[in-house]
Amino acid sequence: MTAPSHIQLSRAKGWRKPPEARVVARNTIFGNPWAVGADGTYCWPRGTRAGWKSSHRIPADRLTAEQAVGAFAIWIHGYSVPLWFRPDNLTPTGRRQWRDDMQARRAAIWQALILGELRALDLCCWCATDATCHADVLLALAADTRADLSRWMDLVVGEFD
Ligand SMILES: [Zn+2]
Repeated sequence: MTAPSHIQLSRAKGWRKPPEARVVARNTIFGNPWAVGADGTYCWPRGTRAGWKSSHRIPADRLTAEQAVGAFAIWIHGYSVPLWFRPDNLTPTGRRQWRDDMQARRAAIWQALILGELRALDLCCWCATDATCHADVLLALAADTRADLSRWMDLVVGEFD
């Protein structure tokens, strides 16, 4: 059995997602809030739906794939994301909402991981297969055993800030 891998989504005619593969692009709960190459853009999570509808400016410049995936890795492991990766134009209420939404989103991803929803599946994203992509972070987490995953839970249920 080969290890699960990252598959690039395509709109090309005739392309079909392999039936067993799981999409982790931004229109799913597994999407990366930090967008590559989009001038300091952070995609705002909507707590009640899977999509990432709106976006906010963040102080960081155009993110490289390494920065966007790095921010995702920091966040998903429960660590505090550097200020320049957070929206900087929010009211205090907006900041609280952002923090709550991010915590809810992360908890949902961890719930899916611990239930093994991504285990042994190929993961599909729009990034090129040879590009650094948050799907690689998810592949590594999904390959972890349940026991190993649970050691992260203390961090995950903690405060985001
Ligand atoms: Zn990707």
